[in-house]
Amino acid sequence: MTYWVNAKVVKITRWTKRLFKIILHAPITPFLAGQFAKIAIKISEKKYIKRVYSYVNAPHDKNLEFVITLIPNGIMSNKLYHLTIGEEILISKEASGFFTMQEIPTCQILWMMATGTAIGPFCSILQDGTGLEKFKKIILIYAVKYATELVYLPLINKIKKRYQNKLIIQTITSQEKNINSLTGRIPKLLCNNILEQNIGYNICPKTSHVMLCGNPDMVKETQSILIQKFNLKKHLRRMPGHISSENYW
Ligand SMILES: Cc1cc2nc3c(=O)[nH]c(=O)nc-3n(C[C@H](O)[C@H](O)[C@H](O)COP(=O)(O)OP(=O)(O)OC[C@H]3O[C@@H](n4cnc5c(N)ncnc54)[C@H](O)[C@@H]3O)c2cc1C
Repeated sequence: MTYWVNAKVVKITRWTKRLFKIILHAPITPFLAGQFAKIAIKISEKKYIKRVYSYVNAPHDKNLEFVITLIPNGIMSNKLYHLTIGEEILISKEASGFFTMQEIPTCQILWMMATGTAIGPFCSILQDGTGLEKFKKIILIYAVKYATELVYLPLINKIKKRYQNKLIIQTITSQEKNINSLTGRIPKLLCNNILEQNIGYNICPKTSHVMLCGNPDMVKETQSILIQKFNLKKHLRRMPGHISSENYW
């Protein structure tokens, strides 16, 4: 059973009509970078709605940060969008999830591929830094529909100063051309080799592990290309492989 604690809203940033972040303060127990929290809001005397959201902040940071997409007619995301500073909601004391560095085997190149708000767990992992010494290179693919949604790029560029050449960042905008980004969807850009060519590194079972997070269509299609075209295998605890994934819906 989830053990809930009160969480106070300390900051809300609404970047666009659909994309926002909230910062909460709450007495949670330490989590692992890459994990998610359950959040609950009371909607009637006896009824709460609950959804899960990945931590963006590093575990040592007291500001608990979540990046959220407002879903049209989505009950929870609408409630969260309209929160006000000082309001209290509920958060799970313990975090959940296995999308963490503990679960990823040592390899030369770690590929992190995110769509939209799924950049969150990678920001947490990179800000934390724990366990990243087991990779020579980290390649972060940050895919959104429009360039205005690349809201975590300033933070990622700041993080890059810490990792220098070890971290490569590639942004993708699927719905528009943008000077510093590739255009299209991750599966297509893998299929036609544009992603690898542009970055200058190859994906192969000998060197690579790929973490996929976000839109389930992207995760499913990318997994299938990585398996069929690049000979990678899904990573399971009982059978080590090269692909770890987390679906947001
Ligand atoms: C492990 C995990 C971590 C998650 N972390 C985040 C997070 O950090 N930020 C976040 O915004 N959501 C995250 N989600 C999704 C979140 O739990 C809710 O499903 C989402 O906020 C919609 O809730 P709702 O009540 O507003 O809409 P609902 O009425 O529950 O509508 C759900 C529908 O919204 C769409 N949808 C859900 N999440 C997203 C999304 N992130 N981007 C685009 N479309 C979406 C899907 O079509 C889905 O069928 C996560 C989900 C999982 C399983």
